[in-house]
Amino acid sequence: MATFRPIPVPDEASQSYWEGATRNALVLPRCSGCAQFHFPPLLHCPHCGSGELDSVEVNGAGTVYSFTTLNTPPGPAFIDLVPLTVGVIELDVQPMLLITANMFAGKSTKIQIGAHAEIFFTTIAEDVSIPQIQVGEV
Ligand SMILES: [Zn+2]
Repeated sequence: MATFRPIPVPDEASQSYWEGATRNALVLPRCSGCAQFHFPPLLHCPHCGSGELDSVEVNGAGTVYSFTTLNTPPGPAFIDLVPLTVGVIELDVQPMLLITANMFAGKSTKIQIGAHAEIFFTTIAEDVSIPQIQVGEV
């Protein structure tokens, strides 16, 4: 039996985010009222409740906030990916703006909290790209 990785399904709140991902751009909602970004995308600002949101392309650079390594796959579609490090990056664009994704260490790099990291995107299906986190140099 073939197993397939789950594919994200964009909704009204996340459509701009996933569209940006297909062109390797990190696009996040920013509130017109309080100017704060948030993630994951929501229809209303979690900081002030405003529904006036813009989609803004941001720099995907930041620092490692947390990480863990999975040795047991979270589902059959992930068997070939373990051991897999899943990490959280705090983006430089705003304090405590966190994104969780698969995390990879560059050559001669050890993943550690506070290390420089960047978001990049990997295409997993036609017109579907997902965020990944690169720590250190490729
Ligand atoms: Zn707001």
